[in-house]
Amino acid sequence: MDMLITDTVVVTCDDGRNLLDRAAIAIRGDRIAAVGDSATLEQEFPDLPRFPGRGLAVFPGFINAHTHTALTVLRGTVEDWGGNAVYGYMSPVSYEMSPAERAVMVSMGCLEAIRSGCTTLVDPFRHIPHYIDAMAATGLRLWVSENCADINTLRIRLGDYSVDEEFGRVFLDRTVQAIEDWQGRGEGRVNFQIAAHAPDNCSPAMLHKLSELAVKYGLTRAVHLAQSMEEVRAVAAMHGGLTPAGYLDREGFLGPDLVGAHWTFCTPADVELLASRGTQMAHCPANSSRRGPHMAPLGLIRDAGVNIALGTDNMTEDMFHALKIGLITHRGGRGREVEGGVNPAPQAMLDGITRNGARSVGAMDIIGSIEVGKKADLTMLDLNTPSLRPIINLVSSVVHYGHPGAVHSVMVDGEFLMRDRKVLTMDEEALMAEAQKVARRVWEGMLTKNPDMPPPPGGLRWLDV
Ligand SMILES: [Zn+2]
Repeated sequence: MDMLITDTVVVTCDDGRNLLDRAAIAIRGDRIAAVGDSATLEQEFPDLPRFPGRGLAVFPGFINAHTHTALTVLRGTVEDWGGNAVYGYMSPVSYEMSPAERAVMVSMGCLEAIRSGCTTLVDPFRHIPHYIDAMAATGLRLWVSENCADINTLRIRLGDYSVDEEFGRVFLDRTVQAIEDWQGRGEGRVNFQIAAHAPDNCSPAMLHKLSELAVKYGLTRAVHLAQSMEEVRAVAAMHGGLTPAGYLDREGFLGPDLVGAHWTFCTPADVELLASRGTQMAHCPANSSRRGPHMAPLGLIRDAGVNIALGTDNMTEDMFHALKIGLITHRGGRGREVEGGVNPAPQAMLDGITRNGARSVGAMDIIGSIEVGKKADLTMLDLNTPSLRPIINLVSSVVHYGHPGAVHSVMVDGEFLMRDRKVLTMDEEALMAEAQKVARRVWEGMLTKNPDMPPPPGGLRWLDV
């Protein structure tokens, strides 16, 4: 869409981290054509339709570097459970959903993401072909992947870590099918990664096949890394005492094109190894802090110069959570006594949902900052929001006090997905009603088929809304 956003505040997140007041952004088609002083650009672009930006602040579209939209089906349940939810609930529920049910829950996640100011989601999950149409129809920019494993993730909670080649082959086939059918569709908004689910459920053979696919298709790679102590123990038992990072390195899997999510139980030696290989981090501070502040060695990771992109992981798409709790955990990770406990600065967290996220998927040339020539992926916040007033240091206020209610409009490729708080690409009311029905059906089915599975703490108290 051709447009001139006039008289606004622009938080560029460019190399100089420039913040422009009384500024304008010219958009031609799907690209940013100019950024600068509003009065000047209004003269330069007399033909462009105006979008009045007074009272708004325009940010580069937020990038959620690690999420699983389908797992909105578990929202409000397993967050308060003490066991290993990955194998206890998440893997079983991913199989319990029918193709149509997956599409509904993925759409629910996408809806929340748009309302949270996201323009890009990085979403490794399972059964991509069942929901990629629905996901692409939301208009979001996507990096999706099939979370591959050849150790049956349905059997790990029973203590069975045997390699199941057939189980693994299905993922590899789906990965290839999805890439062949979908790569670059949606005017280039649908993109892929190659994903190994985790070091404790991928054999060396699986890791090698995934690396080959990444080379063949020229794609970046993703993995969950050192997410739980169970994973650390299982990897040590299977691979001669190696840590998850050590095991991936032995198999040649680490590298600058790999993004590891979490790093929760990485040792200082692991951090040194990962940094030396240029491996990137997708950090999900809010989700990882559900049992107390996330204990990943964040100070060491930052000092090692690792690119840290922020994500939400499970059961939420709220990027403001990631900013806020990220700031707390990253400052805590350095220790209170160091530099007065106020490092990193808020801009470093904002970088985590913009430029660092773009770098994590190898897309710095098209997204992650507001600069001429980049895609017009923009998130507009309403500055007439009580929690943001008074406005002095805007980035600090947004990181500390921002929330999805402040998101005014969201644009991808120069087209609005949400304009003045109305979502344009989805029927919100119908989707929420459908998601409620789907979640109930899925939970009931899953508990019936898996009598060993405990109901979540507090049980399931469905409300008729
Ligand atoms: Zn994850």
